[in-house]
Amino acid sequence: MVKICSKCNMKNSNNSDYCTNCSSNLSNAKIIEEKVFDSKIDDYSKEEHTTNGKIALFCGILGIILVFFINYIPFFLAITAIGLGISARNQGDKYGTYGLILGILTFILTIIVAALVYLYVSSLLSGIH
Ligand SMILES: [Zn+2]
Repeated sequence: MVKICSKCNMKNSNNSDYCTNCSSNLSNAKIIEEKVFDSKIDDYSKEEHTTNGKIALFCGILGIILVFFINYIPFFLAITAIGLGISARNQGDKYGTYGLILGILTFILTIIVAALVYLYVSSLLSGIH
C-alpha cells in the first residue's frame, strides 16, 4: 500500500503522514495497492560495486605497496586509481572513493620517494667531488 501525494504524485509509504518530496500533508492522499520497492532497490544497487571501483581500489592498494619497492609503475597505478576512482565515485560506488584516496596517497608517496632518491644520489655525487 502506498500513498500518492495529491500535490506532486510522489509515492509515499502507507504509514507516513507527510510527503517525502514536498512535505505536504498526506491525509487526503490517494491510497493504492502497491508495495514500496523502488527506494529499497536503489539502496541495494548503491551497495554493489562497479568494475571501475574495484580496479581503482586494486590499483590504489597495489600502488601504495609497490611505491616503496619500484619506480614508475606505482605512478601509473596512482593515475589509474584516481581516474577510475572518480568515475566509480560518480556512480555512487564507495570503492571509487577509497581508490581515489589511495591513488592520491600513492601519487604523493611516489613524489616523496623520487625526491628522496634524487637527494640521496645528488649527495653521493657531491661527496665524490
Ligand atoms: Zn508531495
